[in-house]
Amino acid sequence: MSTGRYIERESLLRLRSIIDLADLVGDYAKLKRVGSNFQATCPFPDHAESKPSFYVNSEKGVYTCFGCNRHGDAISFLMEMEGLTFNEAVVNLAQRYQVELVYRGNPEQDTRPRQALRILEEAKTAYHSALLELPRDHEVWAYTRRRGLSEEVIRELQLGYAPEGWQYLVERLRALRLDLDLAVEIGLLGQGQQGRVYDFLRHRLVFPLVRLSGSLLGFGGRALSAEVDQKYVNPRESFVYQKREHLYGLHLTRHHVKAANCCVVVEGYMDFVSLYARGVKNVVAALGTALTAQQLELIRRFTDKVVLCFDGDRAGVRSMERNLPPILQKGLQGFAVDLPDGEDPDSVILKHGQGEMVRLIERARPLLAFYIDHRLNEEGGAYGRNTVAREVLKILREVPSRIDRKLAVEQAGRMLDIPESFFSAELGLVPEVARRRKERTTDVVPGNAEPEIGLLQALLQDEELVFEAGDLELVELVEAGPVHGALERLVRHAAEHEAVDAKVLLDEAEGTPEQAVLRAALFPDQRLGSSDPRQLYRACLDLLVRRAVERHFAELNREVARSLSAREQEDGTTSELKNLLERQGELRRCMARLKERPPGELEVRELVGLVRGVVGA
Ligand SMILES: [Zn+2]
Repeated sequence: MSTGRYIERESLLRLRSIIDLADLVGDYAKLKRVGSNFQATCPFPDHAESKPSFYVNSEKGVYTCFGCNRHGDAISFLMEMEGLTFNEAVVNLAQRYQVELVYRGNPEQDTRPRQALRILEEAKTAYHSALLELPRDHEVWAYTRRRGLSEEVIRELQLGYAPEGWQYLVERLRALRLDLDLAVEIGLLGQGQQGRVYDFLRHRLVFPLVRLSGSLLGFGGRALSAEVDQKYVNPRESFVYQKREHLYGLHLTRHHVKAANCCVVVEGYMDFVSLYARGVKNVVAALGTALTAQQLELIRRFTDKVVLCFDGDRAGVRSMERNLPPILQKGLQGFAVDLPDGEDPDSVILKHGQGEMVRLIERARPLLAFYIDHRLNEEGGAYGRNTVAREVLKILREVPSRIDRKLAVEQAGRMLDIPESFFSAELGLVPEVARRRKERTTDVVPGNAEPEIGLLQALLQDEELVFEAGDLELVELVEAGPVHGALERLVRHAAEHEAVDAKVLLDEAEGTPEQAVLRAALFPDQRLGSSDPRQLYRACLDLLVRRAVERHFAELNREVARSLSAREQEDGTTSELKNLLERQGELRRCMARLKERPPGELEVRELVGLVRGVVGA
């Protein structure tokens, strides 16, 4: 992005004012409303947590995680979550919220990712229109009809057809003057020894792979003739596509997964399409059988319940068994569907109808039970039971949650007919204390017990109050410390920017103790509720004023005592003592007036007027 073309500040500001951060984050995490904020388990894949420490302040457009310390606004969220640059994230958000961006400067040079995306988009259009333009009695249409796909579903999933020749896509891309070398690199084209390029997908039904952010990754293909080696091909791995990070179809089904609170995982494209077309929409395809940690993290953004629905053959069962450890380690609930021998989801539907498939999914067994059952069947006998018990023990050691482990132990004990105490004793070897200590690294959100923090929270909710606090020099009422520093920063920030921008404020405080205080105050403890900021402001100020007066009075008393003893030793001055006694008198009168007026009755300006000149002079 060094080409000098940049997005105009005004359109950026407009975009930021329109974005609903909770809506955006809601695509990645299950948000729970807490007062005026939202709470969730942290959506960032490398911060696997079981207790929620991620907060979104929708009104301010900022988020913070007290576990991994990430914080920022919608742009930084998308940058980090989707691996985008600043400009890419802005463009993505502008599309999402339909804000037109105004650019200034030189026309931007296309970067490689942008070019790759353009190529993929053109390829998708080319494949899709190739399919739609074919007569409906063509082989590929006959195939899709046999698999129960309506034209509507084909359009919805943007399926396409890669024609038989070797040059269909090559010619399309060449006509658009797109970079064919790049198309080779991202796997759309192949290249012969003489450097001649050709279509990688030929005579195949084409499935576009799309990220959650909506951008294309590549295409999978199902062969339409029997004599090819590979029935299915996946996109080549490149800087655009990494298999381990993708789940096919999730961009379409995430809301269904969230709503059903359950994600059905199938092996391949046709299993997915088949279920999707019949209305089972909380489904994704792993495009393989071993779920990776990244794929499980993707699922966990929307649900913690995973139902594996792999082929009903030896390989499918083995695959489901192999997914037990990673699923348990991620703290997810795993289930397995028992398909009839030799069937896959697609064939069950074709033979027995979708009702039967839905019933099988509903009857999915806990994955651990499935595992033990199948393993016992294979091993057989008392010796086999011993083997399986050892395997289960090994797996359960890795389960992070104590409750999950306890439930699993109960189940395993029952199924293997081994006393639960055996497992418990064996698992007791896991250093529980160390594990728990690690989980507890999250900061504690300060409660509103302290009026200093309440004041800060009130100011962060109402910009007007910040300016008033600046005019009235209220910061001086707060004792020195991080809260004092945070208030000072806030007032200074508001004066400099003529507004409060929570993201900028946090950035300015980067690396200081005040930052933690500001973040905590932006995401108040839910017990506070969302009381009116003005009320909170007045109540806290009242308390602060009374405390400040008392503090000064105690200080003054000490000084008077010191001065008296100094005079006794004849090195103090009478005028100093007189001065102190006068101030003591003023403070006493001030305290008497404060006492007459119960807390909450005094207006802010009255309060400040009462103590001005008495305190902090
Ligand atoms: Zn986090």
